Amino acid sequence: MKVFRRASDARTFRTASAAASIGFVPTMGALHSGHASLIERAVREHDLAVVSIFVNPTQFGPNEDFAAYPRDESADLAVCARLGTAMVFAPAVEEMYPPGDATRVRPGPIAERLEGGARPGHFVGVATVLTKLFSIVRPDAAYFGQKDFQQLRVVQTLSRDLHLGARVVGCPIVREPDGLALSSRNRYLSTDDRQKALALSRALFAATDDWARGEREPEILRDRVDRGASAPGVALEYVSVADPLTLDELAQPAERAVISLAARVGETRLIDNVLLGIRLEEIA
Ligand code: AMP
Repeated sequence: MKVFRRASDARTFRTASAAASIGFVPTMGALHSGHASLIERAVREHDLAVVSIFVNPTQFGPNEDFAAYPRDESADLAVCARLGTAMVFAPAVEEMYPPGDATRVRPGPIAERLEGGARPGHFVGVATVLTKLFSIVRPDAAYFGQKDFQQLRVVQTLSRDLHLGARVVGCPIVREPDGLALSSRNRYLSTDDRQKALALSRALFAATDDWARGEREPEILRDRVDRGASAPGVALEYVSVADPLTLDELAQPAERAVISLAARVGETRLIDNVLLGIRLEEIA
């Protein structure tokens, strides 16, 4: 497995493997089984799998956890090697944002609500770094988790609009046996908070059961999640029942939806979602 720090070296590697199909998994490191599921798929479906490890400062707000974000590069490289990754690109911040760096990529309305509303500038940072990474790696396909569902839709739109040439593939949320969605940030949770955080996935599963019983009224579904997730020690930021392609909030019953939420449990900000009436493979 090759590990490159310089964009020019990663680009040279890519150019030399021009005939091969490349599957790309961008990450911020602190890899867990959720990331591993993306890497396994990229390895399985392509001649070469490329993983990037980069904690991207421009997608963090001034009061967010950029400095404290978990970093464990040697463990991450071991995971990548074990799964059959051909190349890891792990640049320093100055490599991606050298002095004078000024260009930013602003996604459209799909990035303005939910996470974009709660974290102003977040998706400008995401779209900017992914445009840079895609132009270095030039992948045939890039793999993203449903865990960050809005990000998946933002990147699908970005790749299409800017003709980045990568198919952007969504992969299912990997959960702990008790339902908690895996996240690098889970390691911040105390034992007590981890228990409280279960209210989030349970509330989403309760709404999924309602949907299976035929409930389509967005207000009722929203309320169900709101009440289920409003447990002691859980501060809900938003609950959304939206169209799964546009992420427009649903006002009327619909035959497909994404219910997403964000909450703070202790100091840790968590997000989760469920997709209803549509399969992840249909999200493109
Ligand atoms: P991150 O390192 O948090 O930027 O995540 C890198 C990629 O892994 C993103 O596409 C995430 O959506 C995905 N990911 C994170 N957690 C999970 C999970 N529990 N299941 C599946 N994919 C995930």
